[in-house]
Amino acid sequence: MDIITKITKIIEENHAQLVVVSKTYPPERILEVYQRGLRVFGENKVQEILEKKDLLPSDIQWHMIGHLQSNKVKFIVPFISMVHSVDSDRLLSEIQKQAKRVGRTIDILLQIYIATEESKYGLSEDELWVILDKINHLKFPNIRLRGLMGMASFSDDMDVVRGEFKRLKIIFDNVKSKYPADFFDTLSMGMSGDFELALEEGSTMVRIGSLIFGKRDYS
Ligand SMILES: *Cc1c(COP(=O)(O)O)cnc(C)c1O
Repeated sequence: MDIITKITKIIEENHAQLVVVSKTYPPERILEVYQRGLRVFGENKVQEILEKKDLLPSDIQWHMIGHLQSNKVKFIVPFISMVHSVDSDRLLSEIQKQAKRVGRTIDILLQIYIATEESKYGLSEDELWVILDKINHLKFPNIRLRGLMGMASFSDDMDVVRGEFKRLKIIFDNVKSKYPADFFDTLSMGMSGDFELALEEGSTMVRIGSLIFGKRDYS
């Protein structure tokens, strides 16, 4: 069984969704994966997503999974199908403003900081509740809060990683119970090295790149 068949089977068995993370890989490689029937692709840089999208089929659903600067929101809002990396109310307001301008509603996830490393973006649990409060009051009519996203530590210690996923799932369930909305259904966690673990811990959306495309060349 080839790797895409294997991955999609595991994900389907867990009733989850796959985001194929295509950052750094060229359009030809992305097209090969597209031709296997996959339609949801994730990128982490605005410039790169803009360059690639015009070279690829228009029915691809693009997800922004990387840190997003407010001043770049306007470039992706006309076509982006989900933003996983919302981590400030400034960004939220800008997405609302630009989405309204183009007459779209954008699905977003709030990125939660669950890893122990300093470098990762995301909201602390306290910051999350503050932002949820704002969403509740201000409503943001052109934004649909679909759920949460998190990245575990780059650790070989699977107990550490599992613990971080468990924590995020608890936060997710907690938010879901307090903000009942039938579209709050997405928990984006798990990458190439830890997606099976993430699925065991309740992930509904995994973001997989290198396991599908092979080792990434950053040069
Ligand atoms: C690169 C990236 C991934 C995928 O990483 P792989 O290890 O290649 O699967 C997932 N999520 C985010 C936010 C990323 O930047």
